[in-house]
Amino acid sequence: MKLVVVGAAGRMGQTLVRTIAATEGVVLHAAVEREGSPFLGRDAGALAGLGANGVAITDAPLEAFVHADGVLDFTTPASTVAFAGLAAQARIVHVIGTTGCGPEEEARIAAAARHARIVKSGNMSLGVNLLGVLTRQAAKALPAAGWDIEILEMHHRHKVDAPSGTALLLGREAADGRGVDLAGHSVRVRDGHTGARVPGTIGFATLRGGSVIGEHSVILAGEGEQVTLSHSATDRAIFARGAIAAALWARDEKPGFYSMLDVLGLA
Ligand code: NAD
Repeated sequence: MKLVVVGAAGRMGQTLVRTIAATEGVVLHAAVEREGSPFLGRDAGALAGLGANGVAITDAPLEAFVHADGVLDFTTPASTVAFAGLAAQARIVHVIGTTGCGPEEEARIAAAARHARIVKSGNMSLGVNLLGVLTRQAAKALPAAGWDIEILEMHHRHKVDAPSGTALLLGREAADGRGVDLAGHSVRVRDGHTGARVPGTIGFATLRGGSVIGEHSVILAGEGEQVTLSHSATDRAIFARGAIAAALWARDEKPGFYSMLDVLGLA
């Protein structure tokens, strides 16, 4: 399968270039960066620490997509919306790992999925998707009246969105388990004299610092006991392997909007 990596000079982009080279059944067809990037023209393999692979980084996505089978996209919300339109036009698979999309961007990506095979997830790893399933089960089993749910995450100092896409994914699973809507029940910030915790809410807490790849805990706190479900990412390759598996899986699917739960058979 011929894959394009967009955002090829980024942390995830370079990891994708390395992971494609180590994976059977996929090849790096093209590498794309934003207009004005200092990495345009550089060899994508050399930049990723592999040695030259002959794929020069370009800022022409449509040209890159036209003879490809899929695109792996860990960039920014605005560029992901633009790539969704181009991938639909080129009729190729679009795997989206970008986080921080607002409701309007989500709607535009979902609209593109009428013509394209899109797999989108705030976390592409097997472990976090399993954690999501376990969170849903725990939230269903433990009554909201006596059990409070808090989601704690930590990421590296360069991360620009909060809470993380993974924390929101876990929040949605917890809300689904309780049969409520996350938007109407989440508490994203606490500061000052907040008053007592409102029963049934799902709280988020965000830590940022150093080079942490991703730490997530779902804390279910009851009267006199506490359950903590957690995941630690120690290598970005887990997300890259998931993204490549998603592209290979989506290749034979009908146009539609899929998640990693579909890819992993956990839906
Ligand atoms: P990064 O800043 O290191 O890389 C992003 C790259 O995208 C940069 O090189 C940037 O120049 C490039 N870019 C921006 N606009 C572009 C455009 N229009 N065309 C081409 N390239 C463009 O960030 P990162 O740490 O690699 O993370 C990227 C995104 O992926 C973030 O939203 C992050 O939260 C998300 N992420 C998701 C997962 C997951 O499993 N879903 C895992 C890790 C990171």
